[in-house]
Amino acid sequence: MALSGVEIFKLLPKTNCKKCGYPTCLAFAMKLAQRQASLDACPDVSEEAKKVLGEASAPPVRSITLGAGELSVKMGEETVLFRHEKKFVNPPVIAVAIGDAESDGDVDSKIDGVTSSEIDRVGQKLRVDAIAIINDSGDGSKFGALAQKVAQKAPDVPVIICTEDPGAAEAALGNFTGKNPLLYGVTDGNAEAMVNVAKAAKASVGLKAAGIDALSALTEKVKSLGIDDIVIDPRAKTAGEMLEANTLIRRAAVKKSFKAFGYPIINFVRRDNALLETLVASLGIMKYSSVVVVSNIDKWKNLALFALRQNVYTDPQVPMQVEQKIYSIGDVKPESPLLITTNFSLTYFIVSGEVENSRVPARLAVMDSEGLSVLTAWAAGKFTAGKIAQFIKESGIENDVSHKELIIPGYVAILSGAIEDKLEGWKITVGPREANALPAFLKSRAA
Ligand code: SF4
Repeated sequence: MALSGVEIFKLLPKTNCKKCGYPTCLAFAMKLAQRQASLDACPDVSEEAKKVLGEASAPPVRSITLGAGELSVKMGEETVLFRHEKKFVNPPVIAVAIGDAESDGDVDSKIDGVTSSEIDRVGQKLRVDAIAIINDSGDGSKFGALAQKVAQKAPDVPVIICTEDPGAAEAALGNFTGKNPLLYGVTDGNAEAMVNVAKAAKASVGLKAAGIDALSALTEKVKSLGIDDIVIDPRAKTAGEMLEANTLIRRAAVKKSFKAFGYPIINFVRRDNALLETLVASLGIMKYSSVVVVSNIDKWKNLALFALRQNVYTDPQVPMQVEQKIYSIGDVKPESPLLITTNFSLTYFIVSGEVENSRVPARLAVMDSEGLSVLTAWAAGKFTAGKIAQFIKESGIENDVSHKELIIPGYVAILSGAIEDKLEGWKITVGPREANALPAFLKSRAA
């Protein structure tokens, strides 16, 4: 049961020491009640209070890790229904299904498709995250052989073992020891045996039940068998049913603290029609899937799903930004030009792309403007002459260049004189207003 702010406040040290970043214990308690703060931020909370508050401050959707190492992915931890309320936390896992009735050629090409799926988009690495190994044949030995092949060819990729047969599950899971696999296929009929297999393999479990009521009862049953790392599948047959079930589950978890639904949702969106499948997968990404399982890999499909997922799971209150530093583009020399811009991701990628297009090696000083673009940052007082001068001085770039010339964006030409006043000995050159004019600008200077 969720605690109110006042109930939480009673359990806090009440010293108002501010170490948590809030002015008072009461303010911190209110944020905890809204699940917008973590109890870890208070270093002085007693062990007893931690026990009580730990559960109250835990996210309403349980956090579960799939896989191990660099490619592992987290699911759940969501706290809101709508992104504008706070943010969505863990982007849905995109998994590709590989069935044990598929030909060797198809299996190989799907595994290769997963391991080579990574793309870089606006500074983030995006990929197909997992493989769902499916016991379509009903034959345990075929299933085991497929699991072994996946383990050998894609040892670091997280896996979902999909079968309702505990014996086949046990054999397949043996290939993924220590890799946090998910065992999907727990039903009311096989729950005891499947949970025993999952516990032995240290796997989380995926539950399937037709209908919301049956799913809720199954979740309680599996919990009572001693396993808490659960992923739930409402078994929706159509996109409409999926939307309805996912929304009901998320709403029950975050608004009603209904524990039986406080788990990540898995949706199998496989369809014969690739366009339709992509559409249903998109719906899952937008509406509460923690895992979407698709039938195959296509570059166009990946790009559409990756871009949608990235945009939905970007914190709307925090502009995407890149690290403040001096970036070298091309084979820079001491005499290479030095340009400056702000750290809004899109600004950085557009400007650096155009510098690259010019084929003139250059340094790009990217200044922290809290993710604002050039004009907005200037208007907000975050890209001012004083701040630019300070950044250039503190960057130590003087030691790497044989000149003292800084090229500023044309949109802030007005700052050139003030920067020269504050950066002694430097010449400020006004560059083009638009990034697409940079290649001609840089080439004309290099000529
Ligand atoms: Fe209160 Fe703890 Fe925050 Fe200090 S750190 S103000 S004791 S909640």
